[in-house]
Amino acid sequence: MAERMLQFVRLPQATPDKREAVQRRADFGEIYAPFDPKAAAGQASRCSQCGVPFCSVHCPLNNNIPDWLKLTAEGRMEEAYEVASATNNFPEICGRICPQDRLCEGNCVIEPGFESVTIGAVERHITETAFAEGWVKARRPARERPHSVGIVGAGPAGLAAAEQLRAKGYQVHVYDRHDRAGGLLIYGIPNFKLEKQVVRRRVELLEQAGIRFHLGTSIGPDMSFASLRARHDAVLVATGVYKAREMGGPGAGLGGIVKALDYLIASNRQGLGDTVAEFTSGALDARGKRVVVIGGGDTAMDCVRTAVRQGAASVVCLYRRDRANMPGSMREVANAEEEGVQFMWLAAPEAFHGDGRVTGVRAVRMHLGLPDASGRQAVEPIEGSHFSVPADLVIKALGFDPEDLPGMFGEPALKTTRWGTVAIDPRTFMTKLPGVFAAGDIVRGASLVVWGIRDGRDAAASIHKYIEARASVPQAAE
Ligand code: FAD
Ligand code: SF4
Ligand code: SF4
Repeated sequence: MAERMLQFVRLPQATPDKREAVQRRADFGEIYAPFDPKAAAGQASRCSQCGVPFCSVHCPLNNNIPDWLKLTAEGRMEEAYEVASATNNFPEICGRICPQDRLCEGNCVIEPGFESVTIGAVERHITETAFAEGWVKARRPARERPHSVGIVGAGPAGLAAAEQLRAKGYQVHVYDRHDRAGGLLIYGIPNFKLEKQVVRRRVELLEQAGIRFHLGTSIGPDMSFASLRARHDAVLVATGVYKAREMGGPGAGLGGIVKALDYLIASNRQGLGDTVAEFTSGALDARGKRVVVIGGGDTAMDCVRTAVRQGAASVVCLYRRDRANMPGSMREVANAEEEGVQFMWLAAPEAFHGDGRVTGVRAVRMHLGLPDASGRQAVEPIEGSHFSVPADLVIKALGFDPEDLPGMFGEPALKTTRWGTVAIDPRTFMTKLPGVFAAGDIVRGASLVVWGIRDGRDAAASIHKYIEARASVPQAAE
């Protein structure tokens, strides 16, 4: 092993510089600066090159992390990029927005007290270096195949599958109801976590590789699912999950109570230079308002931090469990707190005050009870513990469920699970319809970008096998 590894005993963990909260609050720029090459090499050299690298085991893409850390420590950046990009279509995106504390870094075995290797920041550094040096190229196929694949959804799952299939020579067509490709990378995740230019740069490479995008095309309303199937040799459904979970209670229908994704899409569109009526009218603009966000996941964290940047008068997050039990990334909670967000843990909304428009949220304190069958502690209200929080804008960020896809596609034979996700054979990613595959959140339920990429890659491999197998046997006339 190179002597320059195992430096964790000497060199403390360091993350890239983070902009001061007071500056961050004033704009939507990314909050972390890139690593400089020396810092990246130093941090990579902290890795102890484990024989069984738990970081890789807990990375959904099983990235070959120790190898690219070693190459970075040795300054062999082009090789580091080759290794990093062999298993990940968008390493610069994962390096920025994976919840590393729960995945690779959270499972790095460097002894407690020395702190994990900053894997995500090094992955971002490797890929940004590769872009700067011109090593990242469109993956044009060596030979063209006559078969075509239609992909519904230009989110990370659809895009990863598209790139894999195109590299094999397929004629790949991606359909999306939005006017820009990227799915939640563009319209969900805010700029301060992932600048839109980073996503656009990738989409441009996919276009250069020969992938055809049909944007503003909603499968179901604009083009029937049957005609899509007739056009292509195989179809991949990668439509994500978008039905917002609702909450009830008196006053839940008041004006000024909005859905998280409507709010974030308006903000992202505004940032991209679009004219957004609901933003211009103030309905989805937090400026000067007392904002209450309800929920404890990544979406809630993105809403509170967007509201801060829009110039909200105050931002409160209500979550019915405690900090340790929230689903969102701890790192994002810490960032939100630094930016001035007030968290009210163990607090659940019961009712909304107001006459026509919301003026406040009545909440009740909760306590954590005994764990249920899944091991998760139940939450119970504490009697007589009601309190009110003033609010002009309430954002509901309670999670997402799948839309009624068989209904939208007019295809009842597309079977779903009891959660409404699309049912697949997990070995092949094929649905109950021959030649129709599914991947990403529409199969898993709301998940992570890195899992979308993984599923997209696996589904692409399976589609390739399916088309090859059919091509090798004569087909009966249909
Ligand atoms: P999506 O990204 O949802 O893409 C699906 C695409 O399908 C969309 O573009 C949609 O327009 C299109 N579509 C749907 N129906 C149709 C139709 N009928 N016809 C044509 N097109 C259609 N994950 C992380 O790893 N890190 C994070 O920090 C993070 N933050 C998040 C913040 C927010 C606010 C949200 C909502 C999610 C976040 N996630 C995060 C989760 C992550 O974004 C998703 O898990 C991931 O994008 C799922 O990828 P996908 O390709 O399955 O679906
Ligand atoms: Fe870690 Fe995500 Fe990169 Fe895997 S893809 S190494 S989990 S940052
Ligand atoms: Fe290196 Fe940590 Fe991975 Fe071990 S677990 S190979 S020390 S990054």
